[in-house]
Amino acid sequence: MSFSRFALSLTPRGVVQDRLHLGMKKELNSFCPSLGLHYLCTLIYNKHGMDGTKRPLLGLTLEELKQVAASVGMPAFAAGQMAQWIYRKRVTDISQMTNLSMRHREALAQDYEVGTSAPIEAVRSVDGTVKYLFQIGTAGAVEAVYIPAEDGSRATLCVSSQVGCKMNCLFCMTGKQGFAAQLTAAQILNQVLSIPESDTLTNVVLMGMGEPMDNIDHVLRALTLMTAPYGLAWSPKRITVSTVGVRRGLERFLDESECHLAVSLHNPFPEERLSLMPAERAYSISQLTDLLRRYDFSHQRRLSFEYIVFRGVNDTPRHASRLVSLLRGLDCRINLIRFHAIPGVPLEGVGMEAMTALRDYLTSHGIFTTIRASRGEDIWAACGMLSTMKKEESQLPPSL
Ligand code: SF4
Repeated sequence: MSFSRFALSLTPRGVVQDRLHLGMKKELNSFCPSLGLHYLCTLIYNKHGMDGTKRPLLGLTLEELKQVAASVGMPAFAAGQMAQWIYRKRVTDISQMTNLSMRHREALAQDYEVGTSAPIEAVRSVDGTVKYLFQIGTAGAVEAVYIPAEDGSRATLCVSSQVGCKMNCLFCMTGKQGFAAQLTAAQILNQVLSIPESDTLTNVVLMGMGEPMDNIDHVLRALTLMTAPYGLAWSPKRITVSTVGVRRGLERFLDESECHLAVSLHNPFPEERLSLMPAERAYSISQLTDLLRRYDFSHQRRLSFEYIVFRGVNDTPRHASRLVSLLRGLDCRINLIRFHAIPGVPLEGVGMEAMTALRDYLTSHGIFTTIRASRGEDIWAACGMLSTMKKEESQLPPSL
């Protein structure tokens, strides 16, 4: 067996990689047997992903892109050029980075790829809302929902942060899937960059599948890349991140980001909230509001509380009154949300009259309150519905 063939056969799972570029072959040819197998495997793993696939440039910071540039003999300024191509011009292939020399593009493409991937499915609502499904390896699929305002003034993308979710909220289809995987920063950003309407987006909300604060490293990296001057260069005011309340992740988010925060509240009484949201046990809503009182939400950064209104569960005057006392002193708003029914869950939404009455009560007690427009009801708009259907489909025997 020739040395290079021997080296190739060491890739994980017996996959023979024929993509080793010339520079790497040179390194392998100068391989010193005394360094041992570990060195060789490290060399292969560092150049490629652990499964031997090319590594994505998407998700890398400018500093990291500089290291990539140096590794293939490009000058440091090429990192800025790569960032432009990836985050601004949204190219999908290294060959499209035309201000890099052909030689450098070829060297880069031996080990790296841009790392974007198109959605595998799109379901369009009559109201213009589009639900996209992105495949995440073998872990499953995640949803991203494009929501254009009816008056055309804005276009929001609701993005996922995990495949499935650990939080198991009673009213959520994603929670029923259980947890499958964390999304990387690249997979979070890919949802923003790879939908056809990417250029028209005015806002992004991390309110899709998963609990963002439970994947805080990747979420913070994605936010950095969205707001960095070399990245998408968005204002943090265009980005909102939601949470049910995961203390450590939330503290980091509040300290390390300037993006808006949306807290899933849904019930102001701890025991009742617990029956809807098991996360209440680990970090109660009163602890969460105490933490939020230590931060300033009176200027650029917005704090909102999401409140899905369930008939007979959290829509009474008792709940309204408690909401006012719980949020007293916080610079915040409440968004009332109509419930999208999901199979097997004994919860019902309320009519518009009850929503309006609750809004008016809260507003008259000093809390700016809105009723969120319900969009895309004809396309399984409840979070996790489409990906759950996809998962069930993939588990059907081929004969069905
Ligand atoms: S509502 Fe959010 S936090 Fe709760 S289970 Fe669903 S995805 Fe997870």
